[in-house]
Amino acid sequence: MRDILFTDLDGTLLDHYTYRPDPALPALRRLRQAGVLVLPATAKTLAEVVQIGAELGLTDGAIVENGAAIALPPGFPDPVPGGELEVVTVLGLPYEMVRGMLAEAAAEVGARVRGYGDMTEAEVAAETGLSPAEAVRARSRQWSETFVVTDGDPVAVGAALERRGLRAVLGARFLTAMGDHDKGEAARLVLDRLRRDGRAVRSWAVGDAANDAELLAAVDHPMLVRAGHGDWVDIDLPGLVRLDGVGPAGWALIPELMGR
Ligand SMILES: [Mg+2]
Repeated sequence: MRDILFTDLDGTLLDHYTYRPDPALPALRRLRQAGVLVLPATAKTLAEVVQIGAELGLTDGAIVENGAAIALPPGFPDPVPGGELEVVTVLGLPYEMVRGMLAEAAAEVGARVRGYGDMTEAEVAAETGLSPAEAVRARSRQWSETFVVTDGDPVAVGAALERRGLRAVLGARFLTAMGDHDKGEAARLVLDRLRRDGRAVRSWAVGDAANDAELLAAVDHPMLVRAGHGDWVDIDLPGLVRLDGVGPAGWALIPELMGR
């Protein structure tokens, strides 16, 4: 029996405001010592996940850019020491194609947009509050584009993207344009791969926001931490466990729930 836990990063394992995982670190250590596979499933880029993974010892694999790609270490699920994550499955559209369709969508509704690809690293750093090195990694997008609407209606831009078969995810400040994929679809593919040799698998996932709904629906044991505003987001699923803590403080309760 192998346990696998997919975890959202921003607002879940990482604090919504400080981006720190501190309250969750002992729990993360316990799960890893117990042989639980822990895979980030995030909107972040592969470069960002590799950096965070190196800091936290999260090297089992990852779902990046909102399910656009799956990266696994050589030998998954029994990684070779020192192996680096490699993209094994791409569900997303090429970055330049997404950017082209975003430009068309904006033109169609008379809006102006500015994507990470239009900004320098210094501008991305200034817009987001990331350090220059973090901005480089955030900007290294391969299958989705993060953008702001500088003139016009963001909802209309989103609708025009959807008419082109893309998805538009509205964040607090930024929007993201991407192909029609999600974290849940990618998680199912990872689970298929894990079960390929007849192995019994128990699957878990934890998130904090509406964009984790598909991920939570893809596993046996869905869990929600309290979101940055303090409440659980409005998701209803059979067996959903609402962890009583905001972000990483809720995450810290996972080993007990898993019996680890
Ligand atoms: Mg989140």
